[in-house]
Amino acid sequence: MYAAVVVDIPARALSEPFAYAVPAHLADDMAVGCTVLVAFGHRPALGYVIALAPAVSELPGAADLDEARVRPIEAILSPPVCSEFAGPVSLWISREYVAPLSECLRLFLPPGGTPRLRKDEDGSYRLERPAVPEVHERVVSLCPQAADYEPPVRATRQRQLIEALSCGPVTTRELNLLYTDMSPAIRALERRGVVRVDERRAWRGCDDGTTLSSARAAAPARLTSGQREALAAIEGAIDAHAGDVIVVDGVTGSGKTEVYLSAIDRVLALGKSACVLVPEISLTAQTVGRFRSRFGGTVAVFHSRLSAGERLDQWDMVRTGAARVVVGARSALFCPLANLGLIVIDEEHEQSYKQGSSPRYHAREVAAHMARVGGFPLVLGSATPSAEALARCRAGSHLGQTWRRVEMPERPGASRLPEIVVADLRREFSQGARSMFSRPLYDALMEVVQRREKAVLLHNRRGFAPFLMCRECGCVPTCDHCSTALTYHERTHTLECHTCGAVYHVRPYPAPGSACPRCGSRYLAKMGMGTQQIEDALVAMLPDDVEVIRMDADSTRGKDAHKRLLEQFDAAECAVLLGTQMIAKGLDFPEVTLVGVVLADYALKMPDFRASERAYDLLEQVSGRAGRGEHPGRVIIQTYLPDDPVIRAVATHDRAVLVDHEAKQRREALYPPYVRLTNVLVRGSYEREVQRYIGELARLVSDGLERAAAGLPEDARPFIMGPTSCVIERAKDSYRHHFIVKSPIGFDVSSVIASALDTVGARRGISVSVDVDAYDLM
Ligand code: ADP
Ligand code: ZN
Ligand code: ZN
Repeated sequence: MYAAVVVDIPARALSEPFAYAVPAHLADDMAVGCTVLVAFGHRPALGYVIALAPAVSELPGAADLDEARVRPIEAILSPPVCSEFAGPVSLWISREYVAPLSECLRLFLPPGGTPRLRKDEDGSYRLERPAVPEVHERVVSLCPQAADYEPPVRATRQRQLIEALSCGPVTTRELNLLYTDMSPAIRALERRGVVRVDERRAWRGCDDGTTLSSARAAAPARLTSGQREALAAIEGAIDAHAGDVIVVDGVTGSGKTEVYLSAIDRVLALGKSACVLVPEISLTAQTVGRFRSRFGGTVAVFHSRLSAGERLDQWDMVRTGAARVVVGARSALFCPLANLGLIVIDEEHEQSYKQGSSPRYHAREVAAHMARVGGFPLVLGSATPSAEALARCRAGSHLGQTWRRVEMPERPGASRLPEIVVADLRREFSQGARSMFSRPLYDALMEVVQRREKAVLLHNRRGFAPFLMCRECGCVPTCDHCSTALTYHERTHTLECHTCGAVYHVRPYPAPGSACPRCGSRYLAKMGMGTQQIEDALVAMLPDDVEVIRMDADSTRGKDAHKRLLEQFDAAECAVLLGTQMIAKGLDFPEVTLVGVVLADYALKMPDFRASERAYDLLEQVSGRAGRGEHPGRVIIQTYLPDDPVIRAVATHDRAVLVDHEAKQRREALYPPYVRLTNVLVRGSYEREVQRYIGELARLVSDGLERAAAGLPEDARPFIMGPTSCVIERAKDSYRHHFIVKSPIGFDVSSVIASALDTVGARRGISVSVDVDAYDLM
């Protein structure tokens, strides 16, 4: 027997597994997933077995190896620890995203850090895992003899204990909390054989109690027709075993979560397990509570706020089979669920599914690959599906996998989509108004106060890069070549395009001679205003008995700050919740009747070709917070750009307006989903060196692309844009330059870049990151 072993040395050159022989005395214990000791060069190394085969030539990536030169595995250091997908999927991620194989495999390893190799005194090696102690709890239960036992008349404690246990086992901790010090009574009854005490592993991280009523999810009496259709499509895909992708395209509040819950019910009944990904930001007590209230103790949860002990316990719950449903952020994909039968990705369009550091995988693509390998369905849910998902559904398939869209256009029951009002700030400006609240928004806030209801105000400045805008006509200067918004540089008085490198000179307001390129107005000015400024204005404007709660990166630093602020909003009689995009998603408060967007234009004019898609998602999501209860909701969007297709699409609840406009623009300007876009970023302390290195790399990639594309027609060839400086030109004392590769769908751009990197080699003081299917281009 032979094994393909990933040697744990993170260097780009080691992107293939190595072949080792399995000696006879290890054969019985050998399995895919084992940690092993191997000789690598002249030193001992730790490795993971990702495949086994009777011949070297049948191992992945080892076809050319000479069987006679293969060395034996020296020892097994631990039994399998990871998911059955670890081998094939880490190989795929490594190739697809140009990342070291050992780094990709680490995604699948138990939490708590990478284990190390330690040499004992006798010269043997063992595995040292980071120490996170397990905790145990003691559970008291009644024995059959209890039926015949009559406690002494004055033994009140014993009576209480028997009473407390009559409904089932209880932990000693809970008993002692309920009745201070129950220990003597437990000991007395244990001696008599009336109760027994068992020690078992305690799972930390399962207790996230909340007062939010919306955290419970009783199954509805009837599914809506949209829900039934979506469920039927998923069930069909379960039965087909073909790894189909179902996109559940449902408006906010249409009951997508209920579809996931019902589908998971089906999968569990088949004896399989399910994995649900939700964006980190919506991994709140509310979402988790809905899954736990339906599936109880079989739900494990992964998010970034877990302590090391909680993370380990949640992982072990999955590994031991105690949990069969996992809810978590993107990394939950890699936990060791046995017999996986369904993956759900909620809010599929969310950017947080793309990992920002190496390996820069996209959870949607990894999940699609896993569905294909495992032959089970992948369900993608969204009110605003990504351009990628929509294009693949339109085509019916993508890379040989079936993609199908099911629509859920209505909310259940009496709940309606809110009315949308667009407040044109150009008009307010021309009428002399200088307040940050337009007349319509001011009036609506006052009505909410009068009716003692609640309002949500969004002020989003994520990914904010300074730009110029004409206060009279709303014009934002864009690049002549790339049609993305230009970034304003105060130091040099320039507008710059960070996709192609073009530079334009400007004099913004209040400099004399400032002029809007479209209407000539002199009010072409820099944009800027923070959440705290708005909070101050709100507090000054609203009566004292209205609570103003601000939620942004600063006010949510503490461990439970996010939850506490939401509970405060929930408990308030009349309140305004003001916040950044973190309030836009997932909140379900029926008393919210007004949603205000303080300035939509930040989102619309990010220097990024996906700006419109993201802005639409944000506006649609935040609008969806209004009118979820009996009272109808209203949304007021303030903007200088009322004619933007995004604003028109949101205002009319008609996504087609935007989708058609976007599809045309992206097809013409060659942007995803019509091409693939790879961002290659180089950083270093000396700008000259960075420029020299990236120039060399770009030339090699360009040559490689030309060779690889030799047979392709002229208009389907990959090409490079740049190199140029990034939108964020300097960070942490490093200069940042990048170039972008555009390549046709299905073209293997990864191996071209990987081989160019091998040729230039690593250089001191220079770091390179390759981001295939990049989202962050800044
Ligand atoms: P989405 O995830 O699509 O935004 P949710 O799953 O949060 O929507 O559902 C919105 C609300 O509608 C929730 O309060 C949910 O309990 C309720 N709901 C879902 N399905 C039904 C149904 N079939 N009948 C009645 N209420 C439902
Ligand atoms: Zn103008
Ligand atoms: Zn440009």
